[in-house]
Amino acid sequence: MVLHGPGRPLAVETRPIPVPGPRQLLVKVAACAVCLTDLHIVDGDLEHPALPLVPGHEVVGRVQSAGPGTEGRFPAGDRVGAAWLGRTCGQCRFCAAGRENLCDDAVFTGYTADGGYAGYMLVDERFAVRIPDRYGDAEAAPLLCAGLIGYRSLVMAGDAGRLGIYGFGAAAHIVAQVAVAEGRRVYAFTRPGDADGQAFARSLGCVWAGGSDRPGPEPLDAAIVFAPVGALAPAALSALDKGGIVVCGGIHMSDIPTFPYRLLWGERRIASVANLTRSDAAAFMDAAARIDIRTSIECFDLAEADTALENLRRGRLQGAAVLVPRRSGPPGLP
Ligand SMILES: [Zn+2]
Ligand SMILES: [Zn+2]
Repeated sequence: MVLHGPGRPLAVETRPIPVPGPRQLLVKVAACAVCLTDLHIVDGDLEHPALPLVPGHEVVGRVQSAGPGTEGRFPAGDRVGAAWLGRTCGQCRFCAAGRENLCDDAVFTGYTADGGYAGYMLVDERFAVRIPDRYGDAEAAPLLCAGLIGYRSLVMAGDAGRLGIYGFGAAAHIVAQVAVAEGRRVYAFTRPGDADGQAFARSLGCVWAGGSDRPGPEPLDAAIVFAPVGALAPAALSALDKGGIVVCGGIHMSDIPTFPYRLLWGERRIASVANLTRSDAAAFMDAAARIDIRTSIECFDLAEADTALENLRRGRLQGAAVLVPRRSGPPGLP
């Protein structure tokens, strides 16, 4: 499924199966989850995608073959995950400091390189992710971004015992389960009047769920904002206790309106989470191996990618949409 320009429907195309280059794996895609970031790319909120582009950065698949210079981390037949961080330069000051999420010259899967809305894709072996066996392919797909970026956001929230989550979609429903398993009290803030979303949040162990237009029943130590709505930043600040932090977990957000300084006073902070590192991925997958995370998914055929994106755009999904290629590959390939 190929994007040729912002605001246009994805085109179904048949291409030759790619040949893995140096350090690359050829992966047969089993499932690819649909992320809010895909929507920002398709809608043109994020500029300069590598057109024509195959979107998708929450990919689960099986290794078919390996290119030159690979180290055998994932032999043929192994299950592997591909995430947003496709490759980094390894040389800039951020990479050198262990902050490869901020790399000056990173390649992002499904944005500046082709991703997983496809039957096959190429994955840099060094950035491939091992996925715990307890999850099926489609169930595992949302872990690759909603889980990973959500987890980085949770780590940035520190040891907050009272945690608010604004926007209860794919990332939130995973992070909430991890936070509850860690013994935190989780407060879910949804669109006002979204009774289904609030019931969903409570079913996952949130102690409270309500509209984002008012503060919760007690002050928060931290709030994570997943919804791409700038007005939620001051709303979340106003729900914080002194010393608390608002973590903005999305790559794109509408403008943040002005707000009185008293909302920031008391050493409250506001921060963003950008991308992820390989160590984030390893730490999250360790947690996902220990905690039984129930991912709520709705599967679509790969050719229905536009329908899945439209449902996400309209807020019609609970949890995550997952694309599953149904057609088998050409003869001769498993
Ligand atoms: Zn770098
Ligand atoms: Zn994502």
